Amino acid sequence: MNIERVAKYTTVPTYARRMLEKPEKQVTLNMSVRASNSNVVQADAYMVFFSTVRGPAKGGIRFNPHVTLEETTKLAELMVWKTALVGIPFGGGKSGVAIDASGLDFAEKTAIVKEFVHLIRNELNSGEYVPAPDMGTGASDMATIFGETHKLESVTGKPPRVGGLPGREEATGRGVSTVTQIIAKRLLPNPNSGPVTVAVQGFGNVGSWAARFLHESGYRIVAASDINGGIYDPDGLDVIELFEHIRSGGTIEAFNAGEDITNESLLELPVDILIPAAIGGVITGDNAERIQAPIVIEAANHPTLPEADDILDERSIVVVPDILANAGGVIGSYVEWRSARSGSLTKRDETFQVIDSILTDATSRVFAVTDDLDIPPRVAAEIHAVDEVVATMDDRGWI
Ligand code: NAD
Repeated sequence: MNIERVAKYTTVPTYARRMLEKPEKQVTLNMSVRASNSNVVQADAYMVFFSTVRGPAKGGIRFNPHVTLEETTKLAELMVWKTALVGIPFGGGKSGVAIDASGLDFAEKTAIVKEFVHLIRNELNSGEYVPAPDMGTGASDMATIFGETHKLESVTGKPPRVGGLPGREEATGRGVSTVTQIIAKRLLPNPNSGPVTVAVQGFGNVGSWAARFLHESGYRIVAASDINGGIYDPDGLDVIELFEHIRSGGTIEAFNAGEDITNESLLELPVDILIPAAIGGVITGDNAERIQAPIVIEAANHPTLPEADDILDERSIVVVPDILANAGGVIGSYVEWRSARSGSLTKRDETFQVIDSILTDATSRVFAVTDDLDIPPRVAAEIHAVDEVVATMDDRGWI
């Protein structure tokens, strides 16, 4: 977060600034575990709490060979602003193990997850850190964590039969779709000129659910991609068939529809809405001039580089920031955590209701500030998030 930029519009006291300029807690671990008779796994692992002033550190566990302390810290910080913007009682955290989990069998992966739980047991058992899945970890790993702590509220993203939340899998995509629809109604001038067209980069969990919800609401999904490339059909893709194809292990390339395109060209298509839902850093100083969509919805984390942001802003392209657009996931996690603490059961539709209601309010707040101060939605969202965190520091006597 660029605190200097935010401080142009709101007061950020010096004491608060010091707390926001660096993480509250960084843990570096040197991990070694005999995962099977023939495999000793050794890896660097990290856990970062960027700020816990608003509540327990919330953030996923990433298993990826490229995990670093720096990346873990950046992702922990993102969670601070996301949770503050949508007003749920969490702080920002993240953890990661620098391994390639793809070659591990179930027993090996489970042994590594258990060892990681052992290393961070104090933070898990105290409730100081509430993890969730991230790249390379999934629902069954969260079930393993629950098996170790025996506390349902110690982890979210569990399978529904193990205290998980119906609707959690869809939650981020649901939120992306809800925010997209609010923005489209506000900003796209003529709804009678045909369905709103959408290109989705990354048809994984978030992208595929967002596409599906948008399709069900009458939007036309004209392009989709995965890591190997994409497809484009200006008349619209059969989203339900594509969804089933991907869920049954298919690739975009093997789906027989439209023309083949690259991930780079997908970003530059003449569509109403562009949804980058794959990885960070895809909209750059190089390609920002060529983006044609008037609206970009950041479903992935950090898909737009700062230099690209300036170019898109000059070109009056509205970028809905990740901390708003993809907050449906952490709102789902909050509902799961709340249900675990209270012992109540939550239905899928109730999960969606909470996500829709929180994101509708947050989107109105962000766009009220955007209009008022004539600033990009990203800055408006950051102002609100920083104000919330600073006010809580004051409430707690930290500053
Ligand atoms: P996923 O692994 O299910 O899907 C990722 C998709 O992107 C896949 O289709 C994959 O093939 C594609 N992809 C991967 N690398 C690519 C590349 N280099 N170029 C183009 N496509 C590529 O992941 P996900 O859970 O859908 O997450 C997608 C993004 O959303 C990530 O940035 C993640 O951090 C962010 N996010 C996810 C959640 C969540 O709840 N899953 C919540 C908030 C943010």
